[in-house]
Amino acid sequence: MSAWVIIPTAGTGERFGGPLPKPLVMCGGKAVIARTLEVFQQSALIEGIVLIAHALWLKDYQDVVRAGNFSKVKVVVEGGVTRTQSVRNGLAALAAFDHEPGGAKIVMIHDGVRPFVTEEMLAAGLLAVRETGAAIAAVPVKSTIKVVDPKGERVCGTLDRDLLREIQTPQVFDRQLLERAYREDRDGATDDAALVERLGVAVMLFPGHVTNIKITTPEDISVAEAFLRDRNEH
Ligand code: C5P
Repeated sequence: MSAWVIIPTAGTGERFGGPLPKPLVMCGGKAVIARTLEVFQQSALIEGIVLIAHALWLKDYQDVVRAGNFSKVKVVVEGGVTRTQSVRNGLAALAAFDHEPGGAKIVMIHDGVRPFVTEEMLAAGLLAVRETGAAIAAVPVKSTIKVVDPKGERVCGTLDRDLLREIQTPQVFDRQLLERAYREDRDGATDDAALVERLGVAVMLFPGHVTNIKITTPEDISVAEAFLRDRNEH
């Protein structure tokens, strides 16, 4: 079953600041997005990549694709105002490749700012998605999580940590199921699985990793460079 990946990178990066969007920031001598793309380019499990870029930076992403020889990137698509809209644009772009052998049957969504995704995660995701058509990377929660009032002033309750997971990407779906979830979506969500959950379909978990961080703030670049030093890559 041929798997494609949609990689959204079109956020405005308000929490990051600085002149460049997070995926284009250098991390250990390479742009974050180039590191993310390398993993999917090198994986035999991945047929094609749809890269979603912010309109302002479209050319910069095209340059990264060209410089890195990322031949699996079949198209660079403009993102939308929300992450949901960006992924929606990516899903629409898949149709152009349906006539080719290896058109998408399984679709992964992976945040462009998670460069430490591994081949093991892709393999685990492809295995887990067979169960119900939806599977997401997860890690146990290390902190205690409390529910608070809307003002964030008062504790309303404490959640049982054993029943909580921090959710990462990749999120892996049967393409038809994901398309239905997006067709029926009215409110958007911070991840793709939430839209599938609303259809009443069970979403399975597979192991993510603590190093599979989402580069969100400038401090995260320092953390990422420390990971690279551990791997002797920086
Ligand atoms: O905003 P958040 O941190 O959840 O973003 C996760 C990923 O989705 C990032 O790679 C970001 O660039 C992307 N995104 C997008 N279009 C948006 C907002 C976020 O492609 N409008």
